[in-house]
Amino acid sequence: MSELFSDKETGLLLDAAGRPLPGQESRIDGVAAVSRIGKRLFSEHLVGGNFGNISYRDSQREGFYITSSGSYLDEPEDLVFVSLDGEVPRNASSEWRVHREIYARTRHMAVVHAHPPCCVACSLFYDEIIPLDSEGEALCQVIPVVVGKPGSSELAERVTDCLLLSSLCIVRGHGTFAVGKNLDEASIYTSLAEYSCHVTWIAQNLRNEYVMP
Ligand SMILES: [Zn+2]
Repeated sequence: MSELFSDKETGLLLDAAGRPLPGQESRIDGVAAVSRIGKRLFSEHLVGGNFGNISYRDSQREGFYITSSGSYLDEPEDLVFVSLDGEVPRNASSEWRVHREIYARTRHMAVVHAHPPCCVACSLFYDEIIPLDSEGEALCQVIPVVVGKPGSSELAERVTDCLLLSSLCIVRGHGTFAVGKNLDEASIYTSLAEYSCHVTWIAQNLRNEYVMP
């Protein structure tokens, strides 16, 4: 077998002639796509620091690419391939269980996990959120709230149960998991959740101030 090399900048496996080995193409495109979505999440204040994680399905390899543990979503250093069964690389995001359960039990193609502040705040007081705004009503009539320890198998099961019926859910006191046919759709659902929760919060304040006796 001919010798293989690893590109220092991209981490891709190269053949003796310096060409990337087949099967890594989706990772190359994915880094740029994840970075673009990460920048959008930051600009909309849906995530901060090195929180959150993003993944997309690789249907040819029965698995998915996910951001690495501790990486910044707008500048993902690398993406980690995780198969639907088998060993999980140690540098995969700590939330890989939720992502793997979603890809194993649903047909969603992309998952965005963020920490939008109004979603997190509303999840502390509601068991589900009924969007009051017209966009929210049209795209997601009920946003479920689930409970679970970050990184746990129980949380992975509960989130996936919700995402069989809905495009997004909120983990109480933690953040959102949104899905879609691509990363753009999953990020739009994340924005929608934050907007609807922001409106819910403002409306509740106004109700208390002006309507309550
Ligand atoms: Zn999180």
